[in-house]
Amino acid sequence: MAKKLVCDRCGFELTEKDEINQALEGQEAWEASAKARGAEPRGIYPCQNYARCGGELQWVEQKRTFLFGRNTDKRNLR
Ligand SMILES: [Zn+2]
Repeated sequence: MAKKLVCDRCGFELTEKDEINQALEGQEAWEASAKARGAEPRGIYPCQNYARCGGELQWVEQKRTFLFGRNTDKRNLR
């Protein structure tokens, strides 16, 4: 299953192999800097728009349809 990196705040996506590899190479440094600030990294790398969105990139499986949970019965929505 192909995976991509998606920002958990603004939805920015890294789908290019090169960009993903770059993020992976920076992951350790990112985690170290987060821990140095006393923060726990949520994702593996800060978003390209981090200054604005403060989001971090997380793995998302690439599927043609997204299933946001199973409780999508309209009667449960308000
Ligand atoms: Zn973002």
